[in-house]
Amino acid sequence: MTARVCGPCTLCCQFFAVPETGKPTGQWCDHCGATGCAIHRTRPPSCRNFECFWLLDEGFPEDLRPDLCGIVVSFNEDHASVVAHVDPARPDALAEEPGSALLAALSGAFDPVFVVCGAERVMLRRHGQAPDGDDAAPG
Ligand code: SF4
Ligand code: SF4
Repeated sequence: MTARVCGPCTLCCQFFAVPETGKPTGQWCDHCGATGCAIHRTRPPSCRNFECFWLLDEGFPEDLRPDLCGIVVSFNEDHASVVAHVDPARPDALAEEPGSALLAALSGAFDPVFVVCGAERVMLRRHGQAPDGDDAAPG
């Protein structure tokens, strides 16, 4: 179990739906604040159950905290592939450090890697890039 806490980060909160509160996909949550989730102690199960790689793995450098690097990485449901959700406000996050090194490491460890940025969805394979399919990524 990780000793990390989300702290001021709320980047994933814009990407995923929260059925308990009716917050839709792709929209900031009303509880997001400058210091993090305003209802962190009582946040819904959907929020508690989501853990990005930075939160899960203390080996992830601090500068890859999602709100700092603009990228949330998480497992797909099958745990065989990963999804990198890029902050639409920072669409170049994967082309810049530390995001570019993160993408290289993910591509070396997982095949495929899905990248989602706003309405854009791309599936990256080790031997080239393929158009995304309907079942490619959550969110
Ligand atoms: S992106 Fe990760 S660190 Fe940030 S709020 Fe979500 S789970 Fe926490
Ligand atoms: S309730 Fe808190 S953790 Fe859940 S989406 Fe809203 S700000 Fe994020």
